[in-house]
Amino acid sequence: MKFRVLTLFPEMVKATLKEGVVGQSVQNGELSLELVNPRDFAEDSYQRVDDRPFGGGDGMVMMIDPLAKALKSLADKNGPVVYLSPQGKVWNDQMARTWAKEYSEVTLICGRYAGVDQRFINRYVDAEISIGDYVISGGELAAMVLMDSVARHLPGVLGNPISSDQDSFQTQCLEGPIFTRPSQHELGDVPEFLTSGNHSKISQIRRAVSLALTRLRRPDLLENATETPAWIEVAQTVLALNEGEKNALGFSPIELSEMKKWK
Ligand code: SAM
Repeated sequence: MKFRVLTLFPEMVKATLKEGVVGQSVQNGELSLELVNPRDFAEDSYQRVDDRPFGGGDGMVMMIDPLAKALKSLADKNGPVVYLSPQGKVWNDQMARTWAKEYSEVTLICGRYAGVDQRFINRYVDAEISIGDYVISGGELAAMVLMDSVARHLPGVLGNPISSDQDSFQTQCLEGPIFTRPSQHELGDVPEFLTSGNHSKISQIRRAVSLALTRLRRPDLLENATETPAWIEVAQTVLALNEGEKNALGFSPIELSEMKKWK
């Protein structure tokens, strides 16, 4: 998959995509990246890309022409043009999966200052995407979040092909707590059920813990679930764990007493 990114700070984007599994996927060719700086298409000697907003207001606005020329400079463009924007549709993992499957190329526009002249958006942008209900200083971090989350769903990017299936949001649930060696530590022991060797028991309890956490912390994720879990069984499974296990799993006393009310 190819990402083309229009940014005033190409070095910032390049640096992040050198690291970790995403960096590896760039090296392996599963992901490719082309960076274009609208400043290179500015017309005056100051390489100006922004100007004051009409009607007054704080901050500067990115001008149409440097952006439009940067976009037109991309050869063989194929795929949607997306502006990272707080006014966009809020990004989620389902969208990341769909993009990984459906698109071979996406062009991302990173805004800066107070944002981009609306006429550029009207003419050239196919979709606006927000990474959440807060404002950051530029679209670069948002573009990096989006590219990383899509890359994780591309074939070959994660070492173990099923590892993203166990992540949070894959089954409309949060992933439960995870542990590694040593099994005993001054900060507490690993929950016994995980070291029991009984794989069907482990997966049944893990599923109950994951459902319980989701209902307690992110009930919105369960709103569109196709099946309603048997909440009494979920609660019973979690509440039947010993005190050490419940502590290690991070359930608070308030959460545990909430679970006792589930019907
Ligand atoms: N004045 C804009 C507003 O209030 O909606 C915010 C502009 S922000 C300081 C500059 C740029 O950062 C935006 O043009 C956009 O590209 C990016 N940005 C800020 N918050 C974002 C978010 N939540 N999701 C995606 N991009 C964001």
